[in-house]
Amino acid sequence: MTAGKTAIVTGSTSGIGLGMAEALAKAGANVMLNGFGNPDEIEATRARLARENNTGVAYHGADMTKPVEIADLFAAAEKQFGQVDIVINNAGIQHVAPVEEFPDDKWDAIIAINLSSAFHLTKHAVPGMKKRGWGRVINLASAHALVASPFKSAYVAAKHGIAGFTKTIALEVAQSGITVNAICPGYVRTPLVDKQIPDQAKTRGISEDEVIAVLLAGQPTRRFVTVEEVGAFAAFLCSDGAASITGAVLSIDGGWTAQ
Ligand code: NAD
Repeated sequence: MTAGKTAIVTGSTSGIGLGMAEALAKAGANVMLNGFGNPDEIEATRARLARENNTGVAYHGADMTKPVEIADLFAAAEKQFGQVDIVINNAGIQHVAPVEEFPDDKWDAIIAINLSSAFHLTKHAVPGMKKRGWGRVINLASAHALVASPFKSAYVAAKHGIAGFTKTIALEVAQSGITVNAICPGYVRTPLVDKQIPDQAKTRGISEDEVIAVLLAGQPTRRFVTVEEVGAFAAFLCSDGAASITGAVLSIDGGWTAQ
């Protein structure tokens, strides 16, 4: 039963995170939103989710590069909703450049947001989940947790890292009623992908339309995965029907990694 549970979804002011927050709210969970953006738009989203789903929805603006703010996010969710049952480590950024030109600060930020923040938040959540004998941790990995693409060294390293983190924690908590899984989407048309299209065009010396064709050439369905599809998948993993799925690195990639 997801109804009445409480979820923190990092990076849920946009894209896939927002899609998963919507799916969980629809299933009756209280949701703590997180991420950056225009404060008025975030408040409108928070109020809409609460109203449409008749559930508790709050927002905390923790920066996922800062462990102290991650601790505060967790404490705020516990204070607001009493306990945290579901953690979705989703916040992520991308930077595209050849390794010899890859900026040091971009490498550090990608590792901090896409990998280390999952460690920090999960560490706070596990003790309560263990005590109650129920929990769900979902890490938003990527097809890039399984295969690589050129010019994305930090992202691919972080996503392969999160796959290893997922398996390790799943083993640690396997007998506590807690599942830990990684979702690996192929390309989803979100602001994260939209931003890299001009960068890729520049790096590869091709047009933006050609970049989209290159992205989808690797995805046999030849269409973007949708935010709603990832949201539905996450909601299923939070249900009791998914209690035996743990330590899994699960593709939702239109066949990309089947090739
Ligand atoms: P997005 O850019 O739409 O959303 C990213 C979210 O993370 C936003 O809410 C943003 O505010 C938040 N964020 C960024 N930096 C943050 C920070 N320092 N602290 C707190 N929040 C921060 O991107 P998206 O495509 O929805 O990506 C979500 C996740 O899905 C990422 O982990 C990404 O790697 C993964 N993913 C995306 C795709 C894709 O094709 N879009 C494919 C596979 C995996």
